[in-house]
Amino acid sequence: MQIVDRLIATTLPIVPRSIVRWVAGPYIAGESETDALATVRKLNELGANATLDLLGEEIDDPAASRTIAKRYKALIRSIAGSGLDSGVSIKLSALGLRSHPGLARDLAREVVAAARDAKRFVRLDMEDAGTIDATLDVYRQLREDGLDNVGVVLQSCLRRTFHDVKALAPLKVDVRVVKGIYVEPVLISWRHPQVIRDNYLRMVKYLYEHGCKVAAATHDEQLVYGVTALMDECGVAKEETEFQMLLGVTEKMRDVLIGNGHRMRIYVPFGALWYEYSVRRLKENPAVAGHVTKQLLGRVFGRS
Ligand SMILES: Cc1cc2nc3c(=O)[nH]c(=O)nc-3n(C[C@H](O)[C@H](O)[C@H](O)COP(=O)(O)OP(=O)(O)OC[C@H]3O[C@@H](n4cnc5c(N)ncnc54)[C@H](O)[C@@H]3O)c2cc1C
Repeated sequence: MQIVDRLIATTLPIVPRSIVRWVAGPYIAGESETDALATVRKLNELGANATLDLLGEEIDDPAASRTIAKRYKALIRSIAGSGLDSGVSIKLSALGLRSHPGLARDLAREVVAAARDAKRFVRLDMEDAGTIDATLDVYRQLREDGLDNVGVVLQSCLRRTFHDVKALAPLKVDVRVVKGIYVEPVLISWRHPQVIRDNYLRMVKYLYEHGCKVAAATHDEQLVYGVTALMDECGVAKEETEFQMLLGVTEKMRDVLIGNGHRMRIYVPFGALWYEYSVRRLKENPAVAGHVTKQLLGRVFGRS
């Protein structure tokens, strides 16, 4: 199966854009802000809130990074103006983190301050391992500046992450816990799926025990079960924590959790760069190709 996943991922660049668009359809809200807000409205009606991701990453042109920040600020105004229940997710590499870290920090501060004024939350997505220290530095700086409507993401596949959890816990950090989508060298990452799950639940438990907020982002039934068990064990009420899923993925499990009274936030990517985003994610992590193929067969043959 791994060979098939890799084959799909590497041959994707020669697949016509229209086919990639069809495949990516359920996972991306569309190209425009209007498409994105319409998707959020539907999710709100289903009982989920959202976090909007304006597609774009790895930008080293300061003018382009400023434009992204401006679009995020406009997006936050539109979300608030339409009364929708959504925050935003930002990749700091889109704000120039790799080449102009000072600019990335300043632009992130502008976006988070605009969100605070609109009573909205900003999540700093976590990218590959080379950006973690710089991302956490920006987060700490924003908190020192008095901005509390901001949270981070920590990846349970990395050997360092439990130390990051411990170091951040005194700040009463709001963490989206994920397995991690980037395939990292074995020197710094675990490979065994059960180890990655165990570390995920160990992180969630530590965060609960230290009064931090957890957003458990996963479609893995074992982890969903594990997190609900930890909520019981640690006395965490349903309204104090949330699950998160990607748009278009495991929608039945999403609906079951909402039906059982859990808070659910859906990650909604949108923007003109949907093609680059789709190809990049599949090339970075061929396992995603396997998930997408499985779901696609379900669509074609009427299962989900
Ligand atoms: C809301 C959200 C935000 C995230 N933010 C980040 C981030 O900032 N940084 C980061 O490194 N990673 C991020 N991720 C990705 C995460 O790290 C994992 O790669 C991803 O969630 C898959 O892991 P899983 O826990 O769902 O378990 P898996 O075992 O990978 O998946 C469980 C099942 O879910 C389904 N599934 C999972 N992914 C897909 C998919 N793409 N398409 C179709 N079906 C799928 C499959 O049926 C699969 O068997 C995020 C994930 C979510 C849900």
